[in-house]
Amino acid sequence: MTEQRVAIVTGGARGIGAAIARRLAEQGRAVAVVDLDESSTTEVVEAIRAGSGRAIGIGADVAEAEAVESAVARAADELGAPTILVNNAGILRDNLLFKMTDDDWDAVVAVHLRGAFLMSRAVQRHQVQAGWGRIVSLSSTSALGNRGQANYAAVKAGLQGFTKTLAIELGRYGVTANAIAPGFIATDMLRQTAERMKVSFDDFLAAAAREIPVARVGQPQDVAEAAAFFTSDAASFVSGQVLYVAGGPKA
Ligand code: NAP
Repeated sequence: MTEQRVAIVTGGARGIGAAIARRLAEQGRAVAVVDLDESSTTEVVEAIRAGSGRAIGIGADVAEAEAVESAVARAADELGAPTILVNNAGILRDNLLFKMTDDDWDAVVAVHLRGAFLMSRAVQRHQVQAGWGRIVSLSSTSALGNRGQANYAAVKAGLQGFTKTLAIELGRYGVTANAIAPGFIATDMLRQTAERMKVSFDDFLAAAAREIPVARVGQPQDVAEAAAFFTSDAASFVSGQVLYVAGGPKA
């Protein structure tokens, strides 16, 4: 039997990350679910174990170098060398440019860009040693520009350049890097946006669906399916790509 591959999914406690963690477990991966607070990962970890999968929860802030090093070391000790990484942890600090604070900017850059950088640097050691690896980072349709999201658009576009560079540097070691750019996916993150805009979440979803060619908003599972493909053995010749999962054409 071939050895079970180990995946780390950041921000895996809920939303898109939770769906990805569960989908990768269904694909036979052991999964380290990393999130800010270890206790928040319990539901996902228990669900994976209930399906006879292997999973652990790890509390770590992906923007903190020491926390990242110990999270990756713990995943390696308890599950085996991690060779699949999904950079999914994310936050929003939306505001129009003239109202955006230094903290709004720095917090978003820290979690998305510094987080993806620190995690990828720590995991690539295991990938290079194994001669196999998969890195998937969550970009967004906001990378194309979005009112009120100068910080978020910048990091999501940045993650696309980051991904293409990792693909170029790591390809010779059997490691691919790809990005998924979701459109409107119904999660708590967008519940916050609806609250900020003072509309009910249901009205917000209905209005979004009217603008989407497939006439519905996305679900975390839609993104998880793309992550399952990019992290599969079969996707070894697909690298440096950005896949828009948005119910219609983008970019
Ligand atoms: P979500 O429901 O808000 O989940 C994000 C998760 O990341 C939460 O569990 C959160 O923990 C965790 N997290 C935040 N900061 C962290 C940090 N510093 N270290 C570790 N974990 C951290 O968001 P989502 O909608 O599933 O989004 C997941 C990813 O997809 C994000 O990168 C987002 O930008 C991207 N995306 C989402 C959409 C969408 O429509 N939802 C569209 C395009 C792209 P806490 O709960 O403790 O805060």
